[in-house]
Parts: sequence; structure tokens; C-alpha cells
Amino acid sequence: MAQQMGNQPLIVLSDDSQRTSGEDAQSMNISAGKAVAESVRTTLGPKGMDKMLVDSQGSVVVTNDGVTILKEMDIEHPAANMIVEVAETQENEVGDGTTSAVIVAGELLDEAEDLLEQDIHATTLAQGYREAAEEAKSILSEIAIDIDADDTEHLEEIAATAMTGKGAENAKDALSGLVVQAAQAVADDGVVDTDNIKVEKVTGGSIDNSELIEGVIVDKERVNENMPFAVEDAKIALIDGALEVQETEIDTEVNVTDPDQLQEFLDQEEEQLKEMVDAIAATGANVVFVDGGIDDMAQHYLAQEGILAVRRVKDSDLSRLARSTGAIPVSNATEIESEDLGEAGSVAQKDIGGDERIFVEDVADAKSVTLILRGGTEHVVDEVERAIDDSLGVVRVTLEDGQVLPGGGAPETELALELRDYADSVGGREQLAVEAFANALEVGPRTLAENAGLDPIDSLVDLRAQHADGDTSAGLDAYTGEVIDMEEEGVVEPLRVKTQAIESATEAAVMILRIDDVIAAGDLAGGQVDSDDGGDEGPGGAGGPGGAPGGMGGMGGMGGAM
Ligand code: ADP
Ligand code: MG
Repeated sequence: MAQQMGNQPLIVLSDDSQRTSGEDAQSMNISAGKAVAESVRTTLGPKGMDKMLVDSQGSVVVTNDGVTILKEMDIEHPAANMIVEVAETQENEVGDGTTSAVIVAGELLDEAEDLLEQDIHATTLAQGYREAAEEAKSILSEIAIDIDADDTEHLEEIAATAMTGKGAENAKDALSGLVVQAAQAVADDGVVDTDNIKVEKVTGGSIDNSELIEGVIVDKERVNENMPFAVEDAKIALIDGALEVQETEIDTEVNVTDPDQLQEFLDQEEEQLKEMVDAIAATGANVVFVDGGIDDMAQHYLAQEGILAVRRVKDSDLSRLARSTGAIPVSNATEIESEDLGEAGSVAQKDIGGDERIFVEDVADAKSVTLILRGGTEHVVDEVERAIDDSLGVVRVTLEDGQVLPGGGAPETELALELRDYADSVGGREQLAVEAFANALEVGPRTLAENAGLDPIDSLVDLRAQHADGDTSAGLDAYTGEVIDMEEEGVVEPLRVKTQAIESATEAAVMILRIDDVIAAGDLAGGQVDSDDGGDEGPGGAGGPGGAPGGMGGMGGMGGAM
């Protein structure tokens, strides 16, 4: 690529690189970003549809989860990827609201496109968007409702709202109870580390038969058949090493010259193993979990002592066992003391979906729990797990922040209304950007209405009217089409779901808008996103990821439909 400088062409880029500048770059990026948002739009809300994603190996994922769809789509266009990152940030920070965040980002770009055409400078737009986002966050915290950490009823509503419209919906009453129980069990000073909630998927049975084990399930069997199947009032030892004789270098140099010497050597090994088992038995332990292996001889002695032993336990399971039973892992078995033992009401090997596992239950203060999710088929269980993830996310965030908002498009409508007022106080060209921001937020309720087969204009008019009358929790009942009080209806979401979505959607949109030059070292992966006909219509369903197998080859495939 060459630029004229005087008469001398100045070569700054290699021949392979591609450069798109100015309005072309802007409109290419905006189109790519909008296409991403368009691809998840129909999944939003209780009446949202699912997508079937087929990867190049033919494996299938059926999901309604925004971030999952975008990750599976293998999007390569750089600007499109900035929108995917919005979903990923939302997933990491809150666990729910990924679709909403992405469609707001797409709508911010769409609104911006109109203003750019009217010669409003991108920097002015960016400034206006940022101011509007700040104002929006402060409006939201004013209308937020406080929730106590022990308010199980409201927490269950929050958990259920996050599952609405997902594969888990039919069993959401049962599941939301389990989710809240799990989050409350592991909460430590109001902080919920979801790593302490393990989700075990079992194919077979119905979702309703899902259950919560307050304790740990270890995906292993007892090491030896002569050991007990189950132990009550378990005293648990955790060995962060092996019950084997260390293979020292001296071993290899033992020169056995006569049979007596060999016997002596074997006796010595046996003696060491016996010492280990004796030390464990002396503490009163009747269950032992070992990080490494357990020698046959040691197994024999343990079985003789009536001890249930499990070997090659994963580190993560060992720390969960330590957390929930109070046991202190010891690396050298001969040094174990009775103070190192943990306790559980029951340790037992049980069958779960055709697999034998060790259940450690009835612990004083679980702090670590296992949710057993059942479902008819693998695809069903996988989608239920994603719904549970969202649900755990919102309960965690609510326990941490203690603030929620009504759902069903209520906060978006309220924000749009108040931001339009606020725009008057901004003045200048930024005022237009703030108004555009207000319009963009209404994409939430509008899409909820569209997906429910309602007339989006009628629904918005109803919503605006009730909010103008001061009803801040008026939202759209996607089942009846009525505008109702969402708080009374029990459709509530954490405040952070909305503030995070606004924050990341604004950041991504602003970042994309400020780009006026795309310089790519190689072929631009999304080169097929054609900026010439990037009109208002997004890709139709056929070009979206729900298309035929193999039809989801990243942005190239989507761009063709634009
Ligand atoms: P996201 O990935 O953004 O969480 P969802 O498909 O979960 O997408 O849809 C979330 C939207 O659905 C939110 O705006 C939420 O308020 C709304 N919603 C959830 N349950 C209901 C309900 N019963 N009635 C109306 N809207 C609901
Ligand atoms: Mg959701």
C-alpha cells in the first residue's frame, strides 16, 4: 500500500495488508456489530426461541443462552468480536443478561449510524453516550429495590426469572429452590464463590428429580471390594500424598544375593505400609481420601480396619472435602493426628445415573454443595445446566449487592423516559446522542414484545404511558401481552445485570464508533461483511446461526445475508 509524499511513494504497509478508512471503516464495523446483535435477538425473553448450533465436527448444541450462541458461532470479524466480548464480560461479571447486553450494543450502533449520517461527529456521539450511561446507572440505583440475604422467597423469584424461557423453565419452581439453597449454603460473609457449587449432570430421569447434596460427591469408587460400602458418623482423613512406599533411588541398587534378603526387603516395605495404615487407624478415622495411589498391601490393611478408602482424588475435590468436613489434608500419612480429621454424618458409595460415586453428606456447615441435575437427554441436561448457571449468577449477585430491579422491560422503559428529560439539560449536539441512547434502550421491551408475537409499538405505547404515570415497575407480561406490575408478579433481576449491560454495551459501541481506520496485517476474516448494502434490515433467520449444519462459518456466513 502506498501513499504519496511529494513525488516519492512512501511504502508503509506490506502488500498483504488491507486497509479500510473513514466512513467505509465505520460503516463496515457498525454493520458487523449489528449483525452480531441481530443473531441473538430472537432468543430474548420468556417467549424467545432456541438456536441449534452445529460445529464443523457435527456436534450439536441447542441453546437459548446469548453468550453460548456467540461463542459457538466462531465469529472472526474484529468489530463483531468486540460485541461478543460484551456478552463474555456480562457472563463473567453477572452470569445473566448476555442477550440483553448484546442487543443494546447493537442498537447503540444502529442509532449512531443515523446520527453519523447527519454529520454528527463520532467523538460527540461517544461523549453523549458516555454521559447517558452514567446518568442511566444513577437512575437505576434510585429505582432499585433492597433485598435481604435471607429473603428466600424473593431470591427464589430472582432465580426463577433467570430461568424463564430456557430449557429449565418447566421445573423452575423446583430448581429455583435448589439454586437458592445452594447459594445460601456456600455464602461466606455475603460472598458466594460459585466454585463451591459443583453441578453434576445425569442423563436419565426428569428435571424434577434434580436434587441438592449438602456436601461433596467424589467421582470415584472405594478402592477395594472388602471395604465397607457406607460409613455412618464418618471420621475423615485426607492424605495429600500416596499410601505407597516411595521408590527411592536406593531401591534400584538393592542387590539381592539370597532369598532371605529379598524377604527382608519385602517385609520392610510391608512394614512401612502397615505403619501408615496404623497411624491412620490410630486417629479413629474410618474414611480416607488419598490424592495419590494406595498400594495393594495398604488396601488390605485398610479393609481389615474397616476403613473406606478412595484413591486418586482430584485436588479440587480434596479442597472441597476439606472445606465441607473440616478435615486438614496431611501429606505424610504417618504424621496424621486426630485433630486433622473431618466429620460427616454419612459417607457412602451410591449409584447415580449408572455411575458409582462416593457421597459425603450430612456435614455441619456444608460450604460446598453438589447440585445433581437430571434430564431426559444430554442436550436437555446441558441446556438446563446453562440455565442453572445464569440462575446461580443472579442469586450470587443479589446476595452480594442486595439490590434488584423489576424485569419485563420496566427499567429500560423508565430509563428511556428519564433520559429524554435529561437530554434537554445536556444541550448541543450531545443532546441528540443522549436521545439516541434513550431510544436504543427501548430495544429491550420492543424485542420482548416482538418475540412474544405482540405488536411492539402498541406494547411500547402502553409501557410508556404507565411509566409516565409514575409506575416504575410496569413491565410487559410476555404471556398475556398486558402491562403489569413486575415486582408484584415476582419478575425481578439484580440491579447489576442492568448496570453491567449498560456499561459494557456503551464501552463497546463507543470503541467501535471511534475507529476510522482498519489496518489488517492479512486478509480481514470478516471481509465479506459488505459495507455497501448494510441497510437497516439485519440478516434474516436463514442466514443466522440457526441455519443448516455448516451454515455458521463465522461472520462471513452472516455478512452474506445482510
Ligand atoms: P438475557 O440473556 O438477556 O438474560 P433472556 O432470554 O434471559 O436474555 O431474557 C431476559 C429478559 O426477559 C429480561 O428483560 C427479563 O426481564 C425478561 N423476562 C424474564 N421473565 C419474564 C416474564 N415472566 N415476563 C416478562 N419478561 C420476562
Ligand atoms: Mg436471562
